Amino acid sequence: MLSNRLDSKILKTRDSYVAKLKEMGIKTLADLLTYFPRAYRDEQEFTRINEMRTDEVNVIQAKIKSILNVPTRAGGVVTRAVVADSTGELPVMWFNQRHLKQMFFKGSEIILTGKIKFEKGRTMMMSPKYEKPAAVLLHTGRIVPVYPESEEITSKWLREKIFHLLPYAKFFDEYLPFWVLQGEGLLSYSDAIYHVHFAKDEDFLNKARERLAFDELFMLQFMALRRKKWWQEGFTGEKKQVSPELDMTYFYSALPFELTGAQKRTIGEIFTDLKRDFPMLRLVQGDVGSGKTAVAAAAIYAMVKSGYQCVLMAPTEILARQHYKNLTELLTRFGFNVQLMTGSMTAGEHAAVAMQLATGTCDVVIGTHALIQEGITFPKLGLVVIDEQHRFGVKQRAKLKAQGFPHLLNLSATPIPRTMALTIYGDQDLSILDELPPGRTPIVTRLVPEDKRSDAEFWVSDQVTKGRQVFVVCPLIEESDAIQVKAATLEFERLSKEVFPQHRLALLHGKMKADDKETVMQAFSQGDIDILVSTSVIEVGIDVPNASIMMIEGSDRFGLAQLHQFRGRVGRGAHQSYCFLFTDSNTDQALQRLKYMVKFNSGFDLAEKDLELRGPGEIYGVKQSGIPDLRMASFSNKELLDRVRACAQRLVDEDPNLTGYPVLAEKILKLESQMEVTDAA
Ligand code: ADP
Ligand code: MG
Repeated sequence: MLSNRLDSKILKTRDSYVAKLKEMGIKTLADLLTYFPRAYRDEQEFTRINEMRTDEVNVIQAKIKSILNVPTRAGGVVTRAVVADSTGELPVMWFNQRHLKQMFFKGSEIILTGKIKFEKGRTMMMSPKYEKPAAVLLHTGRIVPVYPESEEITSKWLREKIFHLLPYAKFFDEYLPFWVLQGEGLLSYSDAIYHVHFAKDEDFLNKARERLAFDELFMLQFMALRRKKWWQEGFTGEKKQVSPELDMTYFYSALPFELTGAQKRTIGEIFTDLKRDFPMLRLVQGDVGSGKTAVAAAAIYAMVKSGYQCVLMAPTEILARQHYKNLTELLTRFGFNVQLMTGSMTAGEHAAVAMQLATGTCDVVIGTHALIQEGITFPKLGLVVIDEQHRFGVKQRAKLKAQGFPHLLNLSATPIPRTMALTIYGDQDLSILDELPPGRTPIVTRLVPEDKRSDAEFWVSDQVTKGRQVFVVCPLIEESDAIQVKAATLEFERLSKEVFPQHRLALLHGKMKADDKETVMQAFSQGDIDILVSTSVIEVGIDVPNASIMMIEGSDRFGLAQLHQFRGRVGRGAHQSYCFLFTDSNTDQALQRLKYMVKFNSGFDLAEKDLELRGPGEIYGVKQSGIPDLRMASFSNKELLDRVRACAQRLVDEDPNLTGYPVLAEKILKLESQMEVTDAA
């Protein structure tokens, strides 16, 4: 029934409307009934004529005292009416709506929705919307649903059609367990569908929205928690626990600094995982510079000391090399054999490392995300650390299971609000590094309008003369590598020739050969280059302590999280660091976002603001996560999320295969196959 295709007969409309609906993705009766309003107008109470206000839309119910059509000189017609309720009279005018005279007569009741204005000392209403009072009011005199519209498909049209077909809502099967409905006091699914469109009153509307929001989060939580359960239970074979004799003192004393409280706490959480019967699946979220590497190194140390091999994977070759450099420095003093394995190595070099891995002589291998896919064997793989990979999903994890089911540690420098993290990464345990190492001077961030550009460039030039180094990030124009590269190349030429001819500049972008990139990065970190102009490839991880200025062109084109990532490239050394945001945009929204950059230094704060300003879809990594858009739920409703999570956990514990809930099972299967396309993390 509900899966029936919509046609002109059931909709009582023309074929062109059916086609339009189809374009909007509304093909079946169920699609139409689950096309939810985007907003509501509360028009439950009629305004009295003597209480109407000029600054808002008034809805009145009145009686027609007189109505007549007056021809105009231009050949049109003006309909003039006077309506009255118990408190007063109101003149009303419409233009070229001759038929009104046929619809309404002296003495008819009419409902009018419109603004009033003063003209020639009188209050009057011009061209209001009108409706005959009926047994059921649809367009006024109630909580009126407002739908996402397209050109022909208006809210008014949708209201009529949906109302007409709403009785079919009772054919929607209930799919949530009864104990959830009862325990949470939720409306049944079909009642929720009914009231989300035409709520009896505000209470019912709120209940309907609560139920539908609950459903959206519930599906995602159930899927995530079930993946977590399956990860834990899918484990068979040898337990990869840290040895009970493990002593970390040597490692801690080798670190050139005291760990922060947050680092200690996170390492504690990891060690608890490493002592369990099943492999760890943990996400560490921490701002740029919060010291995630040291945390990962502690885990690596513990595992190698317990006799296992470890892998660290980074999103780019540059980052892999950087990790290699830092970790060899730290770990070789313990006698560990640390190797690098990247795409740009020769086949021979590759084979040599693979051999060391296969024979178990190599303890730690560092490379890009491709590493795990290359069919290399690790006889004693104990831990995989994944740096900054939002898309490291279910499929890749399945590969890891085949490699002996190691512990998995994800590191992410894009903080997102906790409620969102629990939804998106709900199958992982979460550690948060919410503390920066002491002694960091906050980066000074400035918004630079176009007319201040040359002042800023002059100042930057002076800083370079004093020995500082500079990053320039070019704007994101569209999601095309080729165009990005071209924009960066042009900017590089402009800066080299016109702005900083006396300094040494270099260009870096994703289309360059790995060797060339490496050469440029090497030169920049050795100080042989003053100004590095690049596309967003430098976004994650690059560590050049002497670089103290970050210039971001077209900054309004980036999200807050991304801007914050860029900014994190500076402020790593002894010098006061600066971030300049260039923009030629002057829309309020863009400027507000950039002002938040100036005001806040913490990535967690900025993520909250991004959620407020732009919605969850714009938060970095969310789109890639494959999570469908939430239509009803909001990530800021922590209370609801806690309830959802508790119910989803209970269902995962009691009936993970949903044998008792076939309708829910089918819905979840469908959602999972949709999300698998993008390979949700
Ligand atoms: P991220 O979390 O961005 O990966 P890193 O691990 O690269 O951060 O650390 C950033 C810098 O801070 C590195 O130079 C690192 O040596 C240093 N660092 C890390 N932890 C501490 C600490 N507890 N005290 C002082 N410096 C630290
Ligand atoms: Mg890092």
